[in-house]
Amino acid sequence: MKIKTNEISALIKEQIKHYEHKVESNDVGTVISVGDGIALVYGLDQAMLGELLLFPNDIYGMVMNLEAEHVGVVLLGDDTLVKEGDTVKRTKTVMEVPVGDNMLGRVVNALGQPIDGLGEIKTNKTRPIERIAPGVIKRKSVDTPLETGITAIDAMTPIGRGQRELIIGDRQTGKTAIAIDSIINQKGKDVICIYVAIGQKNSTVAQIVDKLKEFNAMDYTLVVAATASEPAPLLYVAPYAGVAIAEEWMEQGKDVLIIYDDLSKHAVAYRTLSLLLKRSPGREAYPGDVFYLHSRLLERACKLSPEFGGGSITALPIIETQSGDISAYIPTNVISITDGQIFLQTDLFNAGQRPAIDSGLSVSRVGGAAQFKATKQVARSLKIELASFNEMKSFAQFGSDLDASTVSILKHGEALLQVLRQDQYKPRSLDRQVFELFMAKEKYLDNLEIDKVRPTLEEAYKYVSTSHANLLKSINDNKEISAEVEEQLKTAINDFFEINK
Ligand code: ATP
Ligand code: MG
Repeated sequence: MKIKTNEISALIKEQIKHYEHKVESNDVGTVISVGDGIALVYGLDQAMLGELLLFPNDIYGMVMNLEAEHVGVVLLGDDTLVKEGDTVKRTKTVMEVPVGDNMLGRVVNALGQPIDGLGEIKTNKTRPIERIAPGVIKRKSVDTPLETGITAIDAMTPIGRGQRELIIGDRQTGKTAIAIDSIINQKGKDVICIYVAIGQKNSTVAQIVDKLKEFNAMDYTLVVAATASEPAPLLYVAPYAGVAIAEEWMEQGKDVLIIYDDLSKHAVAYRTLSLLLKRSPGREAYPGDVFYLHSRLLERACKLSPEFGGGSITALPIIETQSGDISAYIPTNVISITDGQIFLQTDLFNAGQRPAIDSGLSVSRVGGAAQFKATKQVARSLKIELASFNEMKSFAQFGSDLDASTVSILKHGEALLQVLRQDQYKPRSLDRQVFELFMAKEKYLDNLEIDKVRPTLEEAYKYVSTSHANLLKSINDNKEISAEVEEQLKTAINDFFEINK
């Protein structure tokens, strides 16, 4: 998957072949100094921010700093091939990536070049990687659910198409797992998925692609990878390239889900570039505009109003925390930019409660408007019940004599946690989620032994889907539990317990 300089150059050349060569004196500059992938160039006083410059040996650079005497440029190739005194030419274009349907099923680098060995991607359109996000007039409020297939998320922190929901947690807490399961669950739901891997190991990305293939999810997915072995500029560019590709589909009226895994590494790559460009370091040595780095990226996720095609981009950025510290600089920034967060806890993960979602610290500020009525009917009090369970649990550790109401809260909470447990790669359909939550809500599970809860849920669902398939179909079709279906469900569940006594 290693990027070759000549490939990058060939691609950029292709993109700018329509540019007319009217070279003026201030279109050519001289390299003052070069090192660590950064070049300072004198004489380009007309150069624009983000413009591509051509160095000798077909190396391209992107203008990142405009200063009085010179411009600071990050090199997108091997910096040992650039020397002091070299001439540099302006291209008068910004960086663009190829877009279009032929990108589906492929793995590309941050410049949109294929790295999966499946040959060339035939596209006839490119888009600039940076673009101003659609304004309020063009937008519409979120109203269609993006089903992740994960009960805990769809029930407690529902995500709507066009929403930005952060997945945040320490390392190895199942952040990527949530993202991948959400992609797998989009099969047949008319959502195009883009997975942007930033600063991960090549082997991890390869495993993810294999998994997506295994579940036939690559048919509607594009993977953009800027791995840890690649230069910082490419890590910096990758998410913008991903969202530029997504915007093309959104403007065609399609729904897109984009995952940035993860933006902590993106911020670190940007910090590296900024420090090398001698921008002054601020808090945690990040440059002053690190908030803008992520805000301008995540603002591009939105739901367009019908006059503009009605497409959407749903963004699931991922942030890694250090020992659960969500008040560090980058986590607080991204929390404030997004419409909510799914907070994953190491303690829960280690205790086997997976996905390890902390129900108290996780919120979805807009997704409720998009939640299916059926889910609302069964999940309305879920968060409160879990909150009182958590409160009682710490309290119950001290005393042995518990009154009946405390015991019932504890039992109900334990059962709820079992309902929310879910293995990786096993997304649940709407009717299944609603059925399981219904059993919990109607207190069918509270008197079971704790290790019998999950098997009972599986068995009961199997029973109802064979003998009362019409009930589940009604939930799937109407997205709500009618009074009639509710009664019949109760009868069916009672029958199930009767048979399995
Ligand atoms: P990293 O910080 O390394 O990126 P992460 O937070 O993305 O880690 P994952 O790689 O998604 O975490 O998951 C860590 C491990 O936990 C993996 O081995 C994965 O298979 C396992 N895991 C994640 N979710 C679940 C789940 N719901 N049930 C069982 N195992 C899970
Ligand atoms: Mg991960």
